[in-house]
Amino acid sequence: MANVTREDFSVAAATNASAYRRVTIPVLRIEAGPGPAVALIAGVHGDEWEGQAAILDLCSRAPARPEKRDSGIAAALEARLLSRVQAMVDVHSGGASLRYLPSSVITRHGNDAYDDRLPALARAFGLPDCVFFRGGEAGSMPAAASRHSVLRLSAEIGGGRETSQSLVDRCRDGLLGCLAELGLLTPRARPHAAQDAEVRLYDLDAPAATLRARESGVFVPAVELGQSVAARQPIGRLIEPARPDAPPRPLLSPQAGTVVCLRPIARSDDGDCLLQVASALPLDSLASKY
Ligand SMILES: [Zn+2]
Repeated sequence: MANVTREDFSVAAATNASAYRRVTIPVLRIEAGPGPAVALIAGVHGDEWEGQAAILDLCSRAPARPEKRDSGIAAALEARLLSRVQAMVDVHSGGASLRYLPSSVITRHGNDAYDDRLPALARAFGLPDCVFFRGGEAGSMPAAASRHSVLRLSAEIGGGRETSQSLVDRCRDGLLGCLAELGLLTPRARPHAAQDAEVRLYDLDAPAATLRARESGVFVPAVELGQSVAARQPIGRLIEPARPDAPPRPLLSPQAGTVVCLRPIARSDDGDCLLQVASALPLDSLASKY
């Protein structure tokens, strides 16, 4: 019988609208026997729903308290959790401003050495796509996990200020698959067959993988998530309806590949990410990214 206790804590999260504000981070501790200690984390960025809903499915007694984005949450999780676990799965999504092809995520922070457990963990999450990022931000969860030598997998599931039961189910199955891979659950038959299919890896680290708006306008995409595009292929345009004299500005794919991330908000400003595209690689090529 698992021993379940609550270890909620609060963290400062002041905003211009609410000085001295604090948010409560719900933490459910489940002691269920031998095996590595694993942290399942979601909602570090509060407007990303699938992971939060999936973890609620798994721990139905944990109340949801999603909050606005706040880097203090990552720091608090590092201090409270990461020194106590050997592995973590940290689920994200595109949030309000992006929509992702549902993907597991492998992040290399700084000069992290390659960990040969990563491909199996990504396969265990069960999604057919996996994106790779490099990061150097000291305040991020990958950085915190790197400092504590915690094996980590992330995910980007959906986004666009919406979610669905289907995405939540895939996320929940992914978390269970990871727990099984880490030896905490008996592997079970999975409704999604992706774990046995080859997982496609997309390296989003190159600057050419990301197309940003260089001026304001209304983004009219002409491609969809998952679509293959050629380098310099038109992928949409920026228009300005308030200035009918201004010609539409064509947008070209920065490189060939698959569209793995797309901005769902039409009104855009200089610097906004509009699209990410990268070619599909075999997951076994991951080691070459280290
Ligand atoms: Zn996020």
